[in-house]
Amino acid sequence: MSRVEFSDREFELSVPLVIIGGGAAGLVAALSAKAEGIDPLVLERDAVPRGSTALSAGLIPAPGTRWQRAAGVIDTPETFAADILHKADDEPDPNLVRLVTKTIGPTLEWLAEAHGLPFSLVDNFRYPGHSELRMHGLPSRSGEELIDRLRTACEQAGIDILTDAHVDTLIASAGGEIRGIVVERPDGSREEIGCDALILACNGYGGNPALVAEHIPSMREATYFGHPGNQGDALIWGEALDAATRHLGGHQGHGSVAHPVGILISWATVMEGGFQVNAEGRRFSNEAKGYSEQAANVLTQPDGIAWTVFDARIADIARQFEDFRQAEQAKAIVAADTIEELAAKMQVDPAALSSTFNDVEEGKSLGRSDPFGRNFASVPRLIAPYRAVKVTGALFHTQGGLATDGQARVVRQDGSAIENLFAAGGAACGVSGSGASGYLSGNGLLTAVALGRVSGLSAANMLHGA
Ligand SMILES: Cc1cc2nc3c(=O)[nH]c(=O)nc-3n(C[C@H](O)[C@H](O)[C@H](O)COP(=O)(O)OP(=O)(O)OC[C@H]3O[C@@H](n4cnc5c(N)ncnc54)[C@H](O)[C@@H]3O)c2cc1C
Repeated sequence: MSRVEFSDREFELSVPLVIIGGGAAGLVAALSAKAEGIDPLVLERDAVPRGSTALSAGLIPAPGTRWQRAAGVIDTPETFAADILHKADDEPDPNLVRLVTKTIGPTLEWLAEAHGLPFSLVDNFRYPGHSELRMHGLPSRSGEELIDRLRTACEQAGIDILTDAHVDTLIASAGGEIRGIVVERPDGSREEIGCDALILACNGYGGNPALVAEHIPSMREATYFGHPGNQGDALIWGEALDAATRHLGGHQGHGSVAHPVGILISWATVMEGGFQVNAEGRRFSNEAKGYSEQAANVLTQPDGIAWTVFDARIADIARQFEDFRQAEQAKAIVAADTIEELAAKMQVDPAALSSTFNDVEEGKSLGRSDPFGRNFASVPRLIAPYRAVKVTGALFHTQGGLATDGQARVVRQDGSAIENLFAAGGAACGVSGSGASGYLSGNGLLTAVALGRVSGLSAANMLHGA
């Protein structure tokens, strides 16, 4: 049971910096602090650090990078910030948006140069809402590779990562400054560790059904597709410390998880010219608004499922993603030479599917918007052979959380900072506003990596007495 104990007691074992959580946020924070001469101790509840980071596509948006310049893409933090604020209807804190958009590019370049992470630009697909090509990934385009490379970098840097270490209690002074933590091991033994600074990198509350029902009722029945160990501990501890919280309804959903195999299908299938129909073969929404808000749209269709319809050209683009290749191997992707054959394999009414195809393709040739508001101007036509995949909507991760300042310090409700408590990644409030529709692709790893960097550097500064 997560809780905060208020006590000024001494600890037998004490370290300068504890980081709770070994996902992207925690490991980037650890590498950043270590580079500044601070030895962090990372505590991870699982046997191997993976988190939601390992489940992700590992794609991180960043402006003004050397990879963009090499591809002739002109982009700036200001352009990226404008895209984030536009997607989230100006709800996010503009200072936080400025901080992460300025930090992320240099952080990816630092991870490449100092730790050998071979990022490259996704240059054949522009994610919805991004005005430039700015998504960066590792060669396999998988979060597995991202977390594996970060973990290897930590090992090479001599960073201690204690696994099977579930922190359930924070110990704080009466004034709310962090004194230490209590960790529980799988055999039930408990250990207290004192610390001078603490970074919360234990993500949000997607794995806690009660908190999801309270803060995101539309996702109460949805499959949670993120890491089950993310139980909302940062939120629970923060509230006990009188921390300010923001946008607790904010989340990333996804309207394209292959069903029943449970594999993420790249949204390139839609943005490159595909569309979604329900079990009746009819469209039901403007898919181009974004995959996050599409989760709830799909879940309100009969049986909570939809089909994404696309073609072989789009499948070639999607195949760069490990998940898509896995979906093909799992035979989740249906292939057909004609619309009638496709309808038969999807078990939908062929006349309805054919009529939907006609409407979509007519919209493309005339370059006009459909009744749902999707504009088909310059969207490529679908050409046989066709593909389709049965999908459902899922909750990927929460985006609301603890309010932080420009140094990633957790802020109290009265606006003052808790001097030695930092939050990064899903533990902190992100830049996606208060619902699903504010999530711009990549906002998750953006705040994990950028706030991981800021929190690690800020904690090191604080510990050096700067
Ligand atoms: C299927 C999927 C695809 C996604 N794709 C993308 C994408 O391509 N781009 C993008 O930007 N975002 C994506 N996201 C979101 C992204 O994965 C997350 O935003 C990001 O990984 C969060 O990083 P984190 O370090 O905050 O959390 P995590 O990676 O989840 O790490 C948190 C860690 O804390 C540990 N922990 C939790 N509580 C405790 C505790 N009490 N004690 C000790 N350890 C604890 C957990 O075990 C976990 O290892 C995706 C998410 C999912 C689920």
